Amino acid sequence: MEETSLVILLLVVMESVKENRKVCKWYPVCPMKRFYQQGKLDRFWVENFCWVDNPECVRRKLEEKGIAHPDNMLPDGRIDDTLK
Ligand code: SF4
Repeated sequence: MEETSLVILLLVVMESVKENRKVCKWYPVCPMKRFYQQGKLDRFWVENFCWVDNPECVRRKLEEKGIAHPDNMLPDGRIDDTLK
């Protein structure tokens, strides 16, 4: 019984963390979203950049300066030729 309560508490906490998570404003239009949804991009990138609004994202910095960058540029600035 106590174990069940702990599991429920954990689920509630996880849900609230998810709700408070700030997603990058570019995510809806970012190619990283598309590549991730197509199963071409490792979850690492969206989890550590897009879903936490990581200010270190190179794509985001270029986007905000209006500097063009290819769709297959990863959030760390490297080009991944397998992304098409
Ligand atoms: S890759 Fe960068 S710019 Fe694109 S959604 Fe993720 S954090 Fe935002």
